Amino acid sequence: LFNTTLDQYFYTPSPPIGHLISMVELGKFILRYYPSLCIHILITTVPYNSGSTGPYIATVSTTFPSIQFHHLPTVTLPFSTTTHHETLTFEVLRLSNPHVHQALLSISKTYTVRSLVMDFFCTAASTVASELNIPGYHFFTSGAGCLASFLNLPTIHQNTTASFKDLDILLDIPGVPPLPASDMPKPVLNRDDKSYQYFLDFTSRFPESAGIVVNTFEALEPRAVKAITDGLCVRDNRTPPIYCIGPLIAEDNNKEEVHECLTWLDLQPKQSVVFLCFGSLGLFSKEQLTEIAIGLENSGQRFLWVVRNPPCNDQTLAITAQPDPDLESSLPQGFLDRTKERGLVMKSWAPQVAVLSHESVGGFVSHCGWNSVLEAVRGGVPIVAWPLYAEQRINRVLLVEEMRLALRMNESEDGFVSAGEVEKRVRESMESEEGKAVRERAIAMKGEAKAALSEDGASRVALSKFVESWKR
Ligand code: UDP
Repeated sequence: LFNTTLDQYFYTPSPPIGHLISMVELGKFILRYYPSLCIHILITTVPYNSGSTGPYIATVSTTFPSIQFHHLPTVTLPFSTTTHHETLTFEVLRLSNPHVHQALLSISKTYTVRSLVMDFFCTAASTVASELNIPGYHFFTSGAGCLASFLNLPTIHQNTTASFKDLDILLDIPGVPPLPASDMPKPVLNRDDKSYQYFLDFTSRFPESAGIVVNTFEALEPRAVKAITDGLCVRDNRTPPIYCIGPLIAEDNNKEEVHECLTWLDLQPKQSVVFLCFGSLGLFSKEQLTEIAIGLENSGQRFLWVVRNPPCNDQTLAITAQPDPDLESSLPQGFLDRTKERGLVMKSWAPQVAVLSHESVGGFVSHCGWNSVLEAVRGGVPIVAWPLYAEQRINRVLLVEEMRLALRMNESEDGFVSAGEVEKRVRESMESEEGKAVRERAIAMKGEAKAALSEDGASRVALSKFVESWKR
């Protein structure tokens, strides 16, 4: 299989699947534009996931034979009391290092491994790359503004002894609008958490990278990209080369079946439907679902809404597979009937990429996961930003204050959003002058995204520089 002199070895964590999908898209992107190099790509994953990666991996392996997968063995996790699943992800990846080493050694006996591209969760493997003298690159699956914030973390750590959770200030990060300290991702809010140490460790290692590939494009985040490349985000100007090659977006492989929500969208007027979808992991309590339903009903707008079961116990993310919801009991009585002329509710999942590219969609209430952001940008769809987890609060600040592609959904301190707020923001996005201005910018940015990926576009130029760097 790997009978070539030019192999790439990608290392990616399994949870969440979005990271794996982005890594596969990076592989496909290289293969599409550099077929003459006969590159083979091996993607390594750890065996901890929600169970949903298997079918995806099987489809990719059959459709793209140049992309193969290597599954690392299970590792035994030490007892942990952590509340952050990110800590467990980092632990698993750290403990998997000897297996990564072994896998690379055995491949190197037959083939030339030109580079190791690590998802940023897998930064622990950079020691393996240096031991084996293979250039180690990072793949950052979020945007440049978030990367700037992460690159700045070691500097902030040195300048203060307080935890972000106790700092009632706006952080001054080069290339990023003033960022409330409390908007940093949950796992870094408390210095005493192990997850904070992991983040500090991987962000401190970034400067040693052979290069950082970022799933963004320059026109989307010009200030952040410039601040990073000018060396303003890392102490002593030790910034590695940055390759902004996005937007990389996963295409739907299932072209034969037209999803029922797309058929429904075909019947709706242009730009008339608000789409509500909260990533692969977002869950809401029954009380929150009720507020959203009332807000949508009162807004009078057409909508397409992906609803999941409320969490059982105190689980707030769908890390394990969830059963489909019973819509009648999850939503207010009579809601489905009263809104059936202008609304459609999907259980658990909708083909988001296709939905956001559909001309009937005119607004997107989103949790601001980076893939969702890029998919909205490519569709020219304005966002109402309602972050839930991970780096999504940083993304909201970037979307609202910097890119001006979103309106802000305001939540209470515990994250709860009232029906009145849902109604107000949905109306604003679809009907107000401010909403119109955001829509115009979103449509203009759609053009910029297309231009970035065109033959001489900035992202294609960045991709060629990345390929040249490891060909050398
Ligand atoms: N997604 C989808 N349908 C859904 C929910 C999510 O297709 O009902 C896809 C979405 O298109 C995106 C990914 O799942 O590509 C979610 O990635 P994102 O980075 O936005 O959020 P995450 O799930 O990582 O929090």
